[in-house]
Amino acid sequence: MAARINPEQIRRHFPELEQRVHGKPLCYLDNAATTLKPRVVIDRMSEFYLHEAANVHRGSHFLSDRATGIYEAARHTIAQFIGVKDADEIIFTRGTTEGVNLLAFSLGETLQAGDEIVLTQMEHHSNLVPWQLLAERRQLKLHYVPVNSHGELDLAAFKGMLSPRTKVVSFVHCSNALGTINPVKEIVAAARAVGALTILDAAQSISLMPIDVHDLGCDFLVYSGHKLFGPFGIGVLWGKKDLLNRLPPYQSGGSMIDRVRLDKTTFLSAPHRFEAGTPHVAGSIGLAKAIEFVSAIGLNEIFSHECELSELARQQLRAIDGVRLIGEAKSRGNIVSFLIAGAHPSDVGQILDQEGVAVRTGHHCTLPLMDLFGIPGTVRASFSIYNNEEDVRRLVAATRKAREFFI
Ligand SMILES: *Cc1c(COP(=O)(O)O)cnc(C)c1O
Repeated sequence: MAARINPEQIRRHFPELEQRVHGKPLCYLDNAATTLKPRVVIDRMSEFYLHEAANVHRGSHFLSDRATGIYEAARHTIAQFIGVKDADEIIFTRGTTEGVNLLAFSLGETLQAGDEIVLTQMEHHSNLVPWQLLAERRQLKLHYVPVNSHGELDLAAFKGMLSPRTKVVSFVHCSNALGTINPVKEIVAAARAVGALTILDAAQSISLMPIDVHDLGCDFLVYSGHKLFGPFGIGVLWGKKDLLNRLPPYQSGGSMIDRVRLDKTTFLSAPHRFEAGTPHVAGSIGLAKAIEFVSAIGLNEIFSHECELSELARQQLRAIDGVRLIGEAKSRGNIVSFLIAGAHPSDVGQILDQEGVAVRTGHHCTLPLMDLFGIPGTVRASFSIYNNEEDVRRLVAATRKAREFFI
């Protein structure tokens, strides 16, 4: 049993929670869009900009050497967090979207016409559109694993799609629209059996549960720092070193070259091979600080806390006449998607907002999934470490109010 976390204590680290919205204390339930930032992250970044800022990897003076040391130490912290020993396997990106684009481009260069890529019907647009563009450019075939009415992947159908032509299987760990947690090990094992590489979109799961990439078995993993209590504009791509070093570069320019001649350029190995130009040094340092912060709380504890709150919310929302939950997978995380009969999700969101309850409404960048359910979108509440039972109470009360309004 994981020790219980104390949200009241955690809330004190998040200045943004201290404000009122429309005259009511802020009830922030939009954590799947971005988490709030603890003061330690903001302070660490301020400290860097106030006293330590210099460009990295360009040596020859004290400040630059120190900034390089801090930047590379951040890479180590970030590697350890997902069970990676060799920090050279961590590539800094702008976020999940850039991580997938990098892979779609560089892996794409190694694929041949007729090769196949398997995605799922529950992918975020950022793990879908880059592959569609690639498939068009290089005449590849895309398959989508179907999703059933509970919001679970059809694994039998998935296995039926695999063949020696399957080169890449890219899928979401925890659905940002439904909360479904996918069975990563089973998917990876089946993909590996036909020689396909696997990419895990961990944008949601990274802040929800402990992740060890070697235990999961995937070949690549991507996430965004801003959904892990870190700054905007920084993300992580992890890949196995031998795979990374076999891939052609994505962007090119400074910092990623080995030797440039006018007729031929050679490139550094990972991670620098994939980090062209001056990186977001403060972002990397801020993300490492956020990781220290959540690690001190404990990811097992976080998982129990967030699942407990979302189950409580599900239970109470289900009991409201006219409320329909979207996505009731057996294995699910901190996200609760729902609809009120006869009301557009964005109208419900507006009423909740008037009550100080911040949720997201709309298609959550998963339009094909919304089409599958035949709905325009959902109202989505997503829970984090600083949420408490009072937040569930307020969500449910505001939803009841909205329900009465639309009857
Ligand atoms: C948020 C999210 C993304 C995209 O992340 P960005 O930070 O916008 O690049 C991709 N996949 C999932 C599951 C997400 O929740």
